[in-house]
Amino acid sequence: MSFSPYLLKGQKALITGGSSGIGEAITRHLAGAGASVAVNYHSHSENAEKIVDDIKSSQGEATAIQADVSKEDEVKAMFSQTLDHFGTIDILVNNAGLQKDASFVDMSIDQWNAVMGVNLTGQFLCAREAAQEFLRRGVRPDISSAAGKIICISSVHEIIPWQGRINYAASKGGINIMMQTIAQELASQKVRVNSIAPGAIKTPINKSAWETPEAEAQLLQLIPAGRVGEVEDVAKAAVWLASDDSDYVNGTTLYVDGGMTLYPGFSTGG
Ligand code: NAP
Repeated sequence: MSFSPYLLKGQKALITGGSSGIGEAITRHLAGAGASVAVNYHSHSENAEKIVDDIKSSQGEATAIQADVSKEDEVKAMFSQTLDHFGTIDILVNNAGLQKDASFVDMSIDQWNAVMGVNLTGQFLCAREAAQEFLRRGVRPDISSAAGKIICISSVHEIIPWQGRINYAASKGGINIMMQTIAQELASQKVRVNSIAPGAIKTPINKSAWETPEAEAQLLQLIPAGRVGEVEDVAKAAVWLASDDSDYVNGTTLYVDGGMTLYPGFSTGG
C-alpha cells in the first residue's frame, strides 16, 4: 500500500521517539503522506536531524525537538516549540518507549518508575497537551473531519503477560484503558484516540530476539504469519489511523502482530 502525498496535506504531526525504529518509520510515512512532522528525540539528535534533512530535501516540512517525555516541563516546552513552528497540531503519535527488564522479585523501584514514567506517564502528558490544542482550535473542515487524532503505540503485552518485564507489560496495559478513557471523554468534541499494538517488530529495542538465526527461529514459533514484523507494517497502520479514512474508528486497538495474539500454542488443539 502506498499513500497519496495529499492524504494528510496541511496536517501537523508530532511523533515522540521519532528518531529510531517504529517512530522513525511512522515519521517518514506521515511526511510521505503530506503531513508536516515534528520529530521528538531524547538522546539521538543526529538521527533526528538526518530524518529532518531527508524530509526537507523531498520538499516536506520537518523539525527536530529534544525532550524527555516523562518530564512535564519538557513536554510543555516541546508542545510550545511545535506550536511556534507549525502554528497548531493535528496528529500526535505517542511512540516513545523503553524497557528495563528484571524478574518481578528483583525489580527495583527505579526500573519500575523509569518504564512507567516514559511509557505511560509520557503518553498521558503528551496526549493532554495535544488535546488542549485540539479543543482550543476545533475542527478545520478543509484539513480533517476530526479536531485531532492521537495514536498510542502500545504492544501485544497490553494483553499478553510477559515474564521478566512486569513494568513494561503494566505500562502497556495502562495505555489501553488510558486510550479508551480519553477517547470516551473527547469523542463528542471530534477527537479520535486509538492504539496500535505491535507484535515483534525488528528494531533496536528487541535486537537480541531476532539478530541470530537461532533467536529468530525461536521467536517465529510465536508468530503465525511466519515472519518478524517490519517497521513499515506499523507505519502504514499509523497513517491510516491518522487519516480521515479511519474517521469512524475511535477508542480501539489495532493489533499489528502477525497473529501473535491468537495463542499460537493452541493452533494444533493445545
Ligand atoms: P526504539 O528504536 O528503541 O525506539 C524507542 C524510542 O523511544 C527512541 O526513539 C528513543 O529516543 C525514545 N525514547 C526513549 N526514552 C525516551 C524519553 N524519555 N523521552 C523521549 N523519547 C524517548 O524501539 P521501537 O521498537 O521503535 O519502540 C517504539 C515503540 O514501539 C515503543 O513504545 C515500544 O514499546 C513499542 N513496541 C515495539 C515493539 C517491537 O517489537 N519493536 C513491539 C511492541 C511495541 P532516543 O533514541 O533519542 O533516546
